Amino acid sequence: MQVTPSARDVLVVAPHPDDAAYSASAVLAEHPHATVLTVLAGAPSPPVVRSWDQQCGFRDSDHAVEARRQEDDAAFAGTQHALRRLPLLEAPYLTGPRTAQDAAVLDAELEAWLSAAHEPLVCMPAGAGVPFRTIPAPPPGRRWTRVVKRIVGAPGKKLFDAARRRHRNLTVGSARTVNGDHLWVRDTVLDHLEHLIRATPEAPGRTVEVEFYEDYPYLLSQDATGAVEELSARLGPLDERVRAVDTAVKRALMEHYRSQLVGDSSIVDDGVLPPSERSWTVRLP
Ligand SMILES: [Zn+2]
Repeated sequence: MQVTPSARDVLVVAPHPDDAAYSASAVLAEHPHATVLTVLAGAPSPPVVRSWDQQCGFRDSDHAVEARRQEDDAAFAGTQHALRRLPLLEAPYLTGPRTAQDAAVLDAELEAWLSAAHEPLVCMPAGAGVPFRTIPAPPPGRRWTRVVKRIVGAPGKKLFDAARRRHRNLTVGSARTVNGDHLWVRDTVLDHLEHLIRATPEAPGRTVEVEFYEDYPYLLSQDATGAVEELSARLGPLDERVRAVDTAVKRALMEHYRSQLVGDSSIVDDGVLPPSERSWTVRLP
């Protein structure tokens, strides 16, 4: 039976308050009743001062978390999306490695949502961005470029120079490396879904469709192709979807999160903001 989009329950899992709007606006448009679950919406106690928060105009973490919550509420005001938030901390607020308790909090939320879900679709980040391990070693000096030209000729040197420029861009800090919070959320959700399916394969509702949305703006530095290849090695073949977005509508949604645009407001500009969003789906098990 073909299930119409509105007849199914959809959960868009967002690591941070802005991720659903930045990366899955087309999913939200297609599923106007989708619930948005922001996982890392907690405030550390006692409050802490972090440079990114200060850059965004906040005194401390309490100020930042409350303001970002208000931005998120405003972004979805007037929509039918339910917003849920978990009190887990984003990476800059952590003082040690993530604990099993963090995963347990997310697992409990997922289990509660799934227990009442019809034809569940769970969306989560794919993991776009430059993987830390692929940032290349420093480029060789001028002497080597002459050697390269002698060996491979002018066309080869052109490619070599392009690689050098790319390396320079990566190492001056303009590269958006893959966000560790995104990977933790994605992998924790996947682990839990697979665990649930293995534990109770016969239970109704234990077939779950998952969808990985391509992380914006990280995809500007490196798209999710590599991350999706790794996911398909684990989950089997994934179906790619490309949905057109109305960039004016998306920009208006993104601008609700104005505190986070301080560092690089160009990501909402024409010619930077892509006219479509990509995602990849697979049915579990
Ligand atoms: Zn994020």
